[in-house]
Amino acid sequence: QAKSAGRNTYRFFNPEMQTKVMEYAEFANDIRSSIQNKDFLLYYQVQVNHHGERVGTEALLRWMHPVKGMVRPDEFIPIAEETGLIIPLGDWVLVEACQVLAGWAAHTLTQGLTLAVNISAHQLRTHDFVEKVKSTISKTGADPSKLKLEITESMLLDDIDDTIEKMRALQAIGVTFALDDFGTGYSSLSYLKRLPLDQLKIDKTFVRDLLTDTQDADIASTIVSLAKSLHLSVIAEGVEQEDQRILLASYGCLLYQGYLFGRPVSLKEFMASLETFENQLS
Ligand code: C2E
Ligand code: MG
Ligand code: MG
Ligand code: MG
Repeated sequence: QAKSAGRNTYRFFNPEMQTKVMEYAEFANDIRSSIQNKDFLLYYQVQVNHHGERVGTEALLRWMHPVKGMVRPDEFIPIAEETGLIIPLGDWVLVEACQVLAGWAAHTLTQGLTLAVNISAHQLRTHDFVEKVKSTISKTGADPSKLKLEITESMLLDDIDDTIEKMRALQAIGVTFALDDFGTGYSSLSYLKRLPLDQLKIDKTFVRDLLTDTQDADIASTIVSLAKSLHLSVIAEGVEQEDQRILLASYGCLLYQGYLFGRPVSLKEFMASLETFENQLS
């Protein structure tokens, strides 16, 4: 019953701090055992260009909780970060994503696709991050130039020189970097200039009300100009309507990700969607 009533039920069952602490510990334990039991999986969301061609995908983590069912990342990533469990979890994501990417090289429908993987601040901060990514790439045989790592602005505040050094080391073997949720953080323009980035991702909160909120529209258009002047590519996330895409295109944003083109789906569904598309053409 608690499950069907949704998140608000927690307040009812859980008015005291003590309960919260126990729930938190339980949740952390659940994450721990779910890593072992392989209850996590990756979903894939397509990214398209202005011709409607698929150019890439983003891997998005999903948790099949044994009792609660599917749990969205926003509900468990913060806890995984606080408990340090994001490290083993992030390791798993990277291995899984690179294995899939390596497999994609063998099929004409997936050959050219890039695969973007979200990296959390804690992962980036670990001293062996670069080595881990490199060894995962070589063990799986993934093409590093098809692997894109998504970082967020908040990560950059910590130790910018260390971040730049790590990014450079991976860039040297072909890995690319996107700055996720761009516009929601606090990165200064001078930082942005120094980072070896390839792409800015316009945060979906600016895309959502693009057609009605002129401030959001101005911000989106400014991000596109900024990307241009920094010689970075720019992609909009959260594109749900064709009119949003058209307006973004008028600003010069020619890459898109959102429900308009496809929801995040399991690998099996993603592959099936590629084949359906192919069949429609032939
Ligand atoms: P994100 O990286 O910014 O991912 C985009 C989010 O927008 C995804 O939410 C995606 O499902 C959602 N989305 C895509 N298209 C649309 C759309 O048209 N409309 C709307 N309203 N939403 C759309 P999701 O999958 O719930 O992931 C949430 C966040 O969790 C991600 O935001 C990312 O920050 C984090 N995350 C996901 N997977 C991983 C992971 O493997 N590692 C880490 N560290 N974080 C992850
Ligand atoms: Mg992302
Ligand atoms: Mg994002
Ligand atoms: Mg986000």
